[in-house]
Amino acid sequence: MNGSLADAVSRRRTFAIISHPDAGKTTLTEKLLLHGGAIQLAGEVKARGDRRRARSDWMKVERERGISVASSVMTYDYGDCTFNLLDTPGHEDFSEDTYRTLTAVDSAVMVLDAAKGIEPQTRKLFEVCRLRDVPIVTFINKLDRESQDPFNLLDEVEQSLALNVTPANWPIGMGRSFRGCWDLFEPALVLVNREGNRQAAGGGGRRIPVSGLDDPAVAEHLTAAEIAELREQLEMVQGLCPPFDREEYLAGALTPVYFGSALNNFGVRELLDGLSGMAPQPRPQATRERTIQPEEDKVTAFVFKIQANMDPKHRDRIAFVRLCSGHFRRGMRLKHVRSGKPMVMHNPLLFLAQDRERAEEAWPGDIIGIPNHGNLHIGDALTDGEELHFTGIPSFAPELLQRVRPDDPMKAKHLGRALTQLAEEGAARAFRTRLGSQWIVGVVGALQFDVLADRIRTEYEIPVRFEPTELYTARWIAGGDPARIKAFIDGNSAAIADDHAEDPVFMARNAWHLERAQTDWPEIEFRATKEQL
Ligand code: GDP
Repeated sequence: MNGSLADAVSRRRTFAIISHPDAGKTTLTEKLLLHGGAIQLAGEVKARGDRRRARSDWMKVERERGISVASSVMTYDYGDCTFNLLDTPGHEDFSEDTYRTLTAVDSAVMVLDAAKGIEPQTRKLFEVCRLRDVPIVTFINKLDRESQDPFNLLDEVEQSLALNVTPANWPIGMGRSFRGCWDLFEPALVLVNREGNRQAAGGGGRRIPVSGLDDPAVAEHLTAAEIAELREQLEMVQGLCPPFDREEYLAGALTPVYFGSALNNFGVRELLDGLSGMAPQPRPQATRERTIQPEEDKVTAFVFKIQANMDPKHRDRIAFVRLCSGHFRRGMRLKHVRSGKPMVMHNPLLFLAQDRERAEEAWPGDIIGIPNHGNLHIGDALTDGEELHFTGIPSFAPELLQRVRPDDPMKAKHLGRALTQLAEEGAARAFRTRLGSQWIVGVVGALQFDVLADRIRTEYEIPVRFEPTELYTARWIAGGDPARIKAFIDGNSAAIADDHAEDPVFMARNAWHLERAQTDWPEIEFRATKEQL
């Protein structure tokens, strides 16, 4: 094992923030970047995003809806650690990208609004994390507003997510009377800073190390009533919450909980220190062939997301690649396992805050962007020659199906090409019916139709319309006996389509139609996702 590799691995923290819209993810992201020195002024994340959006046409949907459709990556250093923060779109109507992004992280920060507790989107994203036992740190935000009782919040996390909770700090007052927090991990009083530049790194909280509640320094800052209340609450915490257990946290069974206020830059430094100290370094990755350890010398990586170039004039795509092992260097030649072809990494990108720069090197846990013309697909492996196939990158049954037509019927062929490319990059499923040669697009979230229409219009210059269909679901047809498959297809040609790779798909009109086919053709498999083929 290589010493500098092991060292780089131990310092990487690759994580995502999961939350419900408006809980404060953007505000917290901004403050995390501020502490990492990646941005100078709070407010810059949004401002920069706006400038970029103003330049890029295909993100019009984002602008109109005021949401972030595309995920991005922000890398920053803090203390001894390099953090890779992967942004997950927070809108309710999100796409597969959100889920896939969570396959590329080693841990997550769950942001809750202290007045609202756990909201639907948080729960949905949490479930995805749980599938992979992703360890979660909780940040309860907006303590400067009237909030729920902290014990109720902890109880809600524990009960509704079935997680053990251990508070890392404890709020003193809330809303207007929010004074700060008591640090439960390293005894200290952290007071809300009411003077000076609160938006400077660490400026939101004034940390006063103390020996305990009886330290005279405590009485200098809190009233007797505040101390009495805090003492009582800390006793209850001790009685009710298990002590922090890192193994349990790493197994995804316990979440440490930080209280704070992102807007006031309060509690953010404690959160970052917590992540540096306890969040996991890059985890081993499963492949069909074997488990890859991050400290292995040879480079391995997988594609978890594809994004069309923000500049619609360029057809390029950027494949977001998570490095799993080895020391990556620019100019390296890696094997693209699916095609069997070598690829030279001429121009890998690193994502620093929201700027990109050419990556000279990268380490396990890092995310690099690889510009390409569509040859990299989601789930693809890059290795230094070994045949490896990553598992655990989810694929989704298309739940919503719509017909897509070009406004100009002469452009049908071009539309086919556009849809094939979009399907290859994993943005949607595209099917062409055998009868009538109509294009049907399948997605997971309804918003994807808008995004696709916008992309087809701007990137391929084909104005299109999406129309509802009567279709219930699409199932890939598989099974042992080609003669039986042919018989099924011939007997049901009105319900057969081909996907972008010419694999046959059964388009069921309703649940009964699907069930009937399954009963009548027991030897045929009707698969919900293509990757299982
Ligand atoms: P996102 O949708 O999760 O990214 O949420 P934002 O970061 O955009 O925050 C949503 C709203 O909550 C914005 O108006 C923020 O200014 C506000 N906000 C975020 N953090 C805090 C906080 O700690 N206290 C208060 N009072 N407001 C906050």
